[in-house]
Amino acid sequence: MEKRLFKILMILMLLGIVCITFYLNMWNTEKPTMIAKNGRMNLLDWDFKKDGIVHLDGQWEIYFNQLLKPQDIKNREVERYFYIPGKLKEQLDGNTTGYMTLHLRVVVPEDVVYGIRIDSMLTSSKVWVNGVEQGGHGKVGKNIKDEKAIYLPVYGYFTPEDGVVDIVIQTSNYRDISPNIRSMDFGLKNQIMDEYMMNISMDNVIIGGLLMIELTYLAIYFLRGKEKSFLYFSILCFLIQLRCCILNERVLVQLYPHMPYELLSKTAAITYYLWIWTYVLFLKEQFKDVSDKIIYFSMVFGSVFTVICLMTENMIYDQLGILTQVLLLCIIIYILIFLIKKSIKGDQKGKLSLVAFFVLIITAMNDIFVNNGVLNNIYIFQIGMFVFAFLESYMLAVNFSMGFNRIKELSIENQEIYEKSIRDSLTNLYNHKYIKQVLSNKIEDYKENKEGFIVLMVDLDHFKSINDKYGHPFGDKVLVRISNLFMKMLRATDTIGRYGGEEFLIILPNTNMVEARKIAERIRKSVENLIWDDSLLKTSISIGLYENEATTKEECIKKVDDLLYRAKKNGRNRVEEYMGNSSRKIKNYA
Ligand code: GH3
Ligand code: MG
Ligand code: MG
Repeated sequence: MEKRLFKILMILMLLGIVCITFYLNMWNTEKPTMIAKNGRMNLLDWDFKKDGIVHLDGQWEIYFNQLLKPQDIKNREVERYFYIPGKLKEQLDGNTTGYMTLHLRVVVPEDVVYGIRIDSMLTSSKVWVNGVEQGGHGKVGKNIKDEKAIYLPVYGYFTPEDGVVDIVIQTSNYRDISPNIRSMDFGLKNQIMDEYMMNISMDNVIIGGLLMIELTYLAIYFLRGKEKSFLYFSILCFLIQLRCCILNERVLVQLYPHMPYELLSKTAAITYYLWIWTYVLFLKEQFKDVSDKIIYFSMVFGSVFTVICLMTENMIYDQLGILTQVLLLCIIIYILIFLIKKSIKGDQKGKLSLVAFFVLIITAMNDIFVNNGVLNNIYIFQIGMFVFAFLESYMLAVNFSMGFNRIKELSIENQEIYEKSIRDSLTNLYNHKYIKQVLSNKIEDYKENKEGFIVLMVDLDHFKSINDKYGHPFGDKVLVRISNLFMKMLRATDTIGRYGGEEFLIILPNTNMVEARKIAERIRKSVENLIWDDSLLKTSISIGLYENEATTKEECIKKVDDLLYRAKKNGRNRVEEYMGNSSRKIKNYA
C-alpha cells in the first residue's frame, strides 16, 4: 500500500513538472509574438484581452555612453539598435559596463490605460513614458561611484498620447559581469497589476509556508532529543526563504528599498554555498553512508566561497562563477548518483529525496536557461524549492513517526505498559534487558556501517558497606540520586541503563575517545563531589571505558567488564581504558 502510494506520488510529481514546463513554453510560443523594428512596435492589431501581455522584444534605439531625457531624443539621429532580450557584451562591441539610454515607440489603440513591468534592467534605471517620469530603480550613474545599484522590478501605468506610448529608459551597470537586458512586459493596466499581485502573493505564500515549516522543525529539534536532521532541515528552509525574500518580486527590497545591490547579490550567492553544505549534512543524518569525502568537500566549498564572497568586491567573486558552478555540479552529481542508488535498493527515504532533489534541479535548470535567454519561461526555482521543502518535510514526518512506530501501534494504555517494561522501577533508567538490546543494535550498526560507539561500565565503590552502615533504604536513595545525576550529565543521544544492582552501562554514539574520556571523568568527579547529610559519607565510582571493536555483545561486555575490574583492582574511583595489551588510568582530561 505504502509503495503504491509512493509510486503514484512520484509519477504525479514528474508529470506535474513536465506539464508546467511544456504549458508555459507553449503558452509563450503559441501566442502571436510582436517584434519591434527600428525602435518601433505596432500593437494596433494586438488584442490585449485575448492575447494577453506582450513582451517588448526586438530592436530598441540605443544611445551608448549617453544619458538622454525624452526631450533630447526627439531631435537626435538614431545611432544603433539593441535587440532585447540580449546580452550587452554581444551587442555593444564587448562592453559590459557603462551607461546608456534606450528608446522605443509603441503604437497602440487609444483611450486605454496601459502598464509596463520591467523585471530587472541592469543595476539601475530611470524610466519615462510620454515624457512623464515613471520611476526606476537605484540611481543611474556615469561611473561606479555615481551609480546607486538597487535590485527591484519597476512598474508604471500611463495612457498613450496620439496613439503612441513613447518609452525612454536610462540605465547603467558596473557590477554585473555578464549583464543582459531581459524582456519587458507590456499590457493593460489591470493585466500588469494582476501580474504583480500574482507574483507577490506567490512569494508571500512560499515565504510564509517556509517560515511555518522552519519554525515547526526547529521546535521539534529542541523538544525532541536534538536530532540534527531537524535542525539542518530548518536551516535549509531558512536559506530557501531568504532567497525568496530577495529574488523574484524582492519582498525584502520592497520593504527596505535602500538595501544595496552588493548586499543582496552577496546574500543570494551565499545562500547557494551554505545550502549545498547543509543539504549534504542533512543527507548524512538521513543516510549514514554518505561518504566523508563529500562532506568535507562541500564544507570546504561552502565555507571558502562564503568567505571569498564576503571579503571581495562583487566583480571579483562573480568571476569565480564558473568555478563555483563546476564544483557545485560535482556535488550535485554525487548526490544524484547516491540517491538513485538508494532508490534502486528500494529505500523509501531515498526515493522521496530523489524526487525532491530532482524537482529542485529541473527548476534550477529552467531558471539558468531563462537567465541566459535560452528559454522564454518564467522563473520557477522558488516553486521547486518549495516543493522540495514540502517533500522533505513529509519524509521527516514519516521517519519521525516510524521511530515511534512500535509504541504508536499500541494503545495509550499499552504504551504505558511498554514504557514500564523497559524501565528499571527504582532508578527509572532503562533496565538490564533493554540496555542489552540497545547494545545489540549498536553492534549490528557497527558491523554493517562501521558506526563506532563507546561503552562505559560503571560500578559504585564499596556500596555494600554503605548498605551495611546506613541501611538498605538509604542505599536505594543513593542509587536514585546517582542515577539522576548520570541522566543529567549525559547527552540526549547517549543511552544509559541499570545493568545490575549498582552497575550501570552507558552507550555513547558518535563520540571520539577524547570526548568519551572527558565525559567519564566528569561523571566520576561529580559522584566524588556529592555531599551527603552525613559528612563522613563519601561516594565514588569506578569506570571501564571501551571503544567498541567487538562484533558480539557478549564480547563487548566482557571487554568493558574487564576494564572495570582493573579499575577496582587499581584502587577504585578511577577510569580505565583499553590500551593495547595493557590498560591505563586516565588522568584529568577534563
Ligand atoms: P566494589 O564494587 O567497590 O568492589 O564494592 P561493593 O561493595 O560495591 O561490591 P559488591 O558488588 O560486592 O556489592 C554490591 C552491593 O550492592 C551488594 C548489594 O547489597 C548492593 N545492592 C545491589 N542492588 C541494590 C539495591 O537495589 N539497593 C541497595 N540498597 N543495595 C543494592
Ligand atoms: Mg560495587
Ligand atoms: Mg557490583
